[in-house]
Amino acid sequence: MRNYLLSRVRQILSTSADDPELKRSQLKAFSSQLPLLYLILISSCISLSVTHHNVAPAHLSVYIPIALCTLCCMRLVYLWRARTRNIPTERITGMLRSTVIVSGSVGASFTVWALSLHPYGGPFAQAHVVFTIAITCIGCVFCLMHVRVAATLACASVVIPFAFVFGFRGDPNLTAMTISLALTSAAMLVVLFSNYRSFGELVLAKRGVLDQQAETQRLNDENFRLANLDVLTDLPNRRRFFAEFEVVIEQARSYNMPFTVGLIDLDGFKPVNDLYGHAAGDRILIEVGRRLQRLHGPAVFFARLGGDEFGLIMEGLHTDDDIRQFGKSVCAALSEPYSFADVGLQLSGSIGFAICSDPALATDHLLECADYALYHAKQTSRGSAVLFSAELETKIRRQGMIEQGLRHADLEAELSLVFQPIYDVKQARTIGLEALARWRSPTLGDVPPDAFIAVAERASMICQLTDVLLRKALAEAATWPGDIRVSFNLSMLDIASIEAVDRLVAIVKASGIDASRIDFEVTETAVMHDFEQACAALRTLKSLGSSIALDDFGSGYSSLSYVHKLPLDKIKIDRSFIAEIETDPACRDIVKSVVDLCRNLKLACIVEGTETAGQLWAMTEIGCWLMQGYLFSRPMPPAQIAEHLAIERRGHEAHVVHLSKYTA
Ligand code: C2E
Ligand code: CA
Ligand code: CA
Repeated sequence: MRNYLLSRVRQILSTSADDPELKRSQLKAFSSQLPLLYLILISSCISLSVTHHNVAPAHLSVYIPIALCTLCCMRLVYLWRARTRNIPTERITGMLRSTVIVSGSVGASFTVWALSLHPYGGPFAQAHVVFTIAITCIGCVFCLMHVRVAATLACASVVIPFAFVFGFRGDPNLTAMTISLALTSAAMLVVLFSNYRSFGELVLAKRGVLDQQAETQRLNDENFRLANLDVLTDLPNRRRFFAEFEVVIEQARSYNMPFTVGLIDLDGFKPVNDLYGHAAGDRILIEVGRRLQRLHGPAVFFARLGGDEFGLIMEGLHTDDDIRQFGKSVCAALSEPYSFADVGLQLSGSIGFAICSDPALATDHLLECADYALYHAKQTSRGSAVLFSAELETKIRRQGMIEQGLRHADLEAELSLVFQPIYDVKQARTIGLEALARWRSPTLGDVPPDAFIAVAERASMICQLTDVLLRKALAEAATWPGDIRVSFNLSMLDIASIEAVDRLVAIVKASGIDASRIDFEVTETAVMHDFEQACAALRTLKSLGSSIALDDFGSGYSSLSYVHKLPLDKIKIDRSFIAEIETDPACRDIVKSVVDLCRNLKLACIVEGTETAGQLWAMTEIGCWLMQGYLFSRPMPPAQIAEHLAIERRGHEAHVVHLSKYTA
């Protein structure tokens, strides 16, 4: 019980709760009442000093009140100045404690001084002393209401000396006054304590609301961050990119502030994902995110748009050279090796840039330009940056016209095929012919296959073309001798779905030709799109008895894992290697290793683009005997094939007869 009472008293008398926020609020509230407190004290001092000036000794009526007033002023200035500063919590505790001490000591000093004036002067002067002490006590206690213990001490420092001096003199008036003052002070303290409790609760409630607000704000901020962030790479996401894009385009419209937009696409990401799994793919993307973040600057904004596609916005005016230079540094960063625990991978990134030269244009147009520049970079020089230009624009227009032409074309009538022999040097004869598409448009004239095939692929029209071309190619091949094969080029979309493959199978079956005479040619890029589906499609074609050739080998990723995993029968070495085989030893080494690889894997190896006798000898030295190229024959219309084969046969027979003369 005793302990409880003691702790209760200690609790009541403690300067405040341990809550720093409450302490700060106490000091703030108290400081705002300070001027009143000291005004009361100073005015009381002056009033007593004036009335006792002539009757009391100078040290009581002049010096002590001056000292008291000076002390009050100094304290007032000190606390008033501290009011606006951001004071550390420990100092607040100290200041509150000093307030308690000062309140007690100033209260006691004032009371003792006022009481010491009481014997001087007449009854009115004495009444004035008593009245001033009482009224000052009430006023000061009220002003100290936010610091309970200071209020209590101030009260006690007045009431106790007052009671000592007046309470026991035996004069009923003085005793009554003492009791009155004590009761009033006690009642006042009770009221103050209850007010103080409400004050504390109010501070805590306010803090609760503020905490709640802060938490709501934090959650909002976090939601905003997550909604605008790509969680894998920590870069801004697609939504944020387009929001930023809207902002810069608005600035461009309002203040004529130019900017550049860029689209980045990783080269070789898909094979990594397919061959090493999604975890490896994710790690690559995270690393790409890190590298791009390193290039992030105040005027450059990077975002991940999805998959292995990233976007960037460069604010401000930049010359074409600046942009290309920046593109180079991004490409350089992206093509540094990616090394993980056991494998080192080499990837690159291609970038398409477009400068916003006319903000009035639709935003889609600018992105289309950047996309086209990117497409161009990927087609012509992977791992580089291309800035959209007027020439590219002309190309886009041309492609648009080709697309329109194709959409309105009578494919059956306008598409035709030429055939290029595949020659076996050892046997000195044509063993097959590759079907190559030709299109004569009534509006555009002859359109090169490179151009219209690419457009048909982009416009997802290639399957319609393939249907027509395959039917024509097989119909033609049906007229050739049974030992002559036909090669047919397939695009990505031709092997990208079960339905597309089923259509190919149906055409082959309907043609009546022996399917084992057909070679289907696919490129690495075509199988990469969806490796599993492509494999399944090629297996279906193989199950017909047809063969599969990997076309343009060496121009893409030339991943040995692909060669290993695909159901291949042949590899066609890209003609870019042959062009330099006589002059570039590195080229020769590469071709030789591909030829050796084919021999080991028991795959036939055909070299494309043989144009000179020198190239022919170089290839035979390496051990490659199957060739295609202008040296043997340019692609020819179907009508010439029979004659070509006949001449070859006659020549061959003559050659055999010629040899037999010597061997006989
Ligand atoms: P490709 O499959 O690599 O076809 C070989 C291309 O190289 C043909 O060009 C051919 O004319 C050319 N060529 C052959 N020998 C030589 C040579 O000694 N020197 C040079 N410089 N070039 C030679 P073409 O006919 O213009 O075809 C271009 C590309 O268009 C083909 O490349 C193929 O990817 C695509 N293509 C052609 N026809 C079809 C088709 O029916 N379907 C699909 N999907 N693509 C086709
Ligand atoms: Ca081909
Ligand atoms: Ca080829």
